[in-house]
Amino acid sequence: MSRVYNFNAGPAALPLEVLENARAELLDFNGTGMSIMEASHRGKVYEDIHNEAIANLREFMDISDDYAVLFLQGGASTQFSMVPMNLLPPGETADYTNSGTWASKAIKEAEKVALINVVADCSKDIPTRVPLASELNLTSNAKYLHVTSNETISGARWNDYPETSCPLVADMSSDILSRHFDISRFGLIYAGAQKNLGPSGLTVVIVRKDLIEGAPDDLPTMMRYSTHIEDNSLYNTPPSFSIYVLALVTRWIKKVGLENLYKQNVEKAAVLYAAIDGSDGWYKGTAVKEFRSDMNVTFRLPSEELEAKFVSEATKSGFIGLKGHRSVGGIRASIYNAVPVEAVNELVKFMNSFMRANG
Ligand SMILES: *Cc1c(COP(=O)(O)O)cnc(C)c1O
Repeated sequence: MSRVYNFNAGPAALPLEVLENARAELLDFNGTGMSIMEASHRGKVYEDIHNEAIANLREFMDISDDYAVLFLQGGASTQFSMVPMNLLPPGETADYTNSGTWASKAIKEAEKVALINVVADCSKDIPTRVPLASELNLTSNAKYLHVTSNETISGARWNDYPETSCPLVADMSSDILSRHFDISRFGLIYAGAQKNLGPSGLTVVIVRKDLIEGAPDDLPTMMRYSTHIEDNSLYNTPPSFSIYVLALVTRWIKKVGLENLYKQNVEKAAVLYAAIDGSDGWYKGTAVKEFRSDMNVTFRLPSEELEAKFVSEATKSGFIGLKGHRSVGGIRASIYNAVPVEAVNELVKFMNSFMRANG
């Protein structure tokens, strides 16, 4: 077996141990004589896994009973609509920050179902960044302020979330569980699982229950948070295998230790940025330094030809997923929780020798 160094942006690397555990239990889960994929979502075998995953997320993020933890489908993209549909009944408004591709998509969908205000826009800035707190032109009666915690494509993130009188709503798809944050400042957090939490097909939503009390009665059943809260995300068939793998990922996090994982993320990013900054401008980071992402490290080479050559030689050497998003080009190394330190160290060696050969 030969496994690659996986820098995919999403779906992304999973911990090897998680894949091995899933394989070991694939045909016979816990002596049931069947795969967890074949188990009823109404049975105890599955429900124990479901509840373990929720309990572990609650523990890691210090989530109180004021919040529900939901497992939904339709990706983070569905939350772009579901959030305003549930949190903004007619007459209510919210503020949005535009920091790049994903924030723009969230805004576009929110505008279809509610009246919102874009209170800062640096989505077109190069080098890339997120807005400064001082740039926010906040609306006094906004029900929430939406932030895209980490812009996966541009590689810029919020370091400190802005101080607001209303709760924050965050798309944390690409940095959930990668670093500390204070949950009490957030009204709602959503994240597609396929970056930092597990496989695709699953979206985690953490919502403060009082915020949805005014949700209009005529919302479609599946689009209402209350439907999923009342049935513990078992109103309809959940993506049970994805939730099972998420549960395995949470067990792995317990073993590694949450603090160790956070520390390791900072170290991995620092090693990669040091290689970029130590290259005398040959490699150029694309995000403003103070907003650099620890999860998606984006950079450019002196020419597009060299970038193409970099990606192609990297692939031959066993490093995959390094091509920047098609909309922006360049190079992107996504180094989520499950990407081992060793993969980053090896990538830095490759970058240095590529520069020597071509610089
Ligand atoms: C990947 C991503 C999305 C889209 O997630 P889907 O699950 O594919 O809908 C949204 N926001 C951010 C920040 C992302 O990284």
